[in-house]
Amino acid sequence: KFITFEGTDGSGKTTQIKLLEGYVREKGYEVVLSREPGGTKVSESIRDIILDPSNTDITPLTEMIMYAASRAQHVAQVIRPAVEAGKVVICDRFVDSSYAYQGSGRGVDLRIIADVNRVAIDGMSPDMTFFLDIAPETAIKRRINASGADRIEQEKIDFHRRVYEGYKKMALLFPERIRAIDANKSISEISSQIIECLNELL
Ligand code: C5P
Ligand code: MG
Repeated sequence: KFITFEGTDGSGKTTQIKLLEGYVREKGYEVVLSREPGGTKVSESIRDIILDPSNTDITPLTEMIMYAASRAQHVAQVIRPAVEAGKVVICDRFVDSSYAYQGSGRGVDLRIIADVNRVAIDGMSPDMTFFLDIAPETAIKRRINASGADRIEQEKIDFHRRVYEGYKKMALLFPERIRAIDANKSISEISSQIIECLNELL
């Protein structure tokens, strides 16, 4: 099975992924954790280019295609082989991030994002997606990032607002797959809600 986590920066994905990983392992599944952009050597190199604060001139279209390229490599080398081997893959961000960040955030046409990503993910859609729903104004305050803000985290709050609204729209469009979880709650409450949803799947 393939599970993804989505949300604005600082929404608590990393903490919740760790907790879910423990739960799924206890259930007896082999778990593969990964993240986007990244997850393979090539994808991590692409991540470095995208997130480099000095690359101020990347166009929105270029950025979207680079995320998709990183994703294609990630699907081919990590996600598909693991899912086909019966493992549970838990990924920090996936294609919904492109709709939210490059689509709603930067204004790239959603149909173009869909077309490019159809080719990139080649049928590998998440079985369940957890959207950690918390306003960016609140989330950004809790973001823990020892190395400082990356190029996207440095964007103004209006950008993060659009990203957040984009996520909320998608969660309404695909309520079966995308589960919106109130991420203002305590870590343990959020985790219990995620586990409850996951039990429908595993
Ligand atoms: O979740 P994480 O902070 O590791 O993501 C790395 C950065 O990439 C974040 O700042 C996130 O906002 C950004 N991102 C993006 N578009 C995507 C995926 C991630 O702008 N499609
Ligand atoms: Mg971040």
